[in-house]
Amino acid sequence: MGRSVLVTGGNRGIGLAIARRLAGDGDSVTVTSRSGDPVEGLAVVRCDVRDAGSVDAAFSAVEHEQGPVEVLVANAGVTGDQLLALMSEDAFTSVLDTNLTGAYRVARRAVRGMMRMRRGRLIFISSVVGLYGSAGQANYAASKAGLVGLARSLARELGSRGITANVVAPGFVDSDMTAVLPQERKAAIMGAIPLGRYASADEVAGAVAFLAGPDAGYVTGAVVPVDGGLGMGH
Ligand code: NDP
Repeated sequence: MGRSVLVTGGNRGIGLAIARRLAGDGDSVTVTSRSGDPVEGLAVVRCDVRDAGSVDAAFSAVEHEQGPVEVLVANAGVTGDQLLALMSEDAFTSVLDTNLTGAYRVARRAVRGMMRMRRGRLIFISSVVGLYGSAGQANYAASKAGLVGLARSLARELGSRGITANVVAPGFVDSDMTAVLPQERKAAIMGAIPLGRYASADEVAGAVAFLAGPDAGYVTGAVVPVDGGLGMGH
């Protein structure tokens, strides 16, 4: 569709699948990574979402190369699992800083151009655990729940400017993030998923492509689950 798209954390995992899907649909797509290492077939810009200066520089580079960002996919995220009693304040705030404040930083920078264009799509990658909760993931779940409040507030603030803000809430997806889970935890999760399997990153990318595309012009403030039924509407 030839639009200017930026996918944070699009150098690997779910973000890479999203970037490849949108590029395949005809958009001009840049992905961020912290290293700036090349990614086959995609433009890359170095960006750490914990640093507003880095975010600003990345957007300026993208604007120069492919025009103002019309579709932002805020996908960059980390985990830092620990039971609350053992979770240091730094372990809590650092996950919030990347996952939630990082999304605020990129959205804030993106809407500058979107407001001028009077159109734009903000898509936040949350998680089923944001609304469902997850023992040992208080920091991560809080950050992912926060994205829902962020997106819905932006949907209200920016709707009159033709900008939509939506959330995709994946369940468990095969990626580096889930590869580190212990085998018994994986088996327990699998047992609770009605569809009995993990999602592929491409299945998450399909939901993002819908929200970014023309069929979702009247969809805003939505939380779209891609979780095999795990969350059951939560
Ligand atoms: P990965 O661990 O495979 O990839 C994480 C991505 O986030 C990488 O591209 C990484 O970049 C980027 N990133 C991390 N910290 C920063 C930062 N400070 N600044 C910029 N980029 C950063 O994870 P997934 O692909 O599995 O996850 C992608 C998103 O989907 C995350 O938000 C995650 O919470 C969410 N999600 C994942 C699920 C899963 O089961 N895997 C389920 C539900 C949601 P770099 O390569 O530079 O480190």
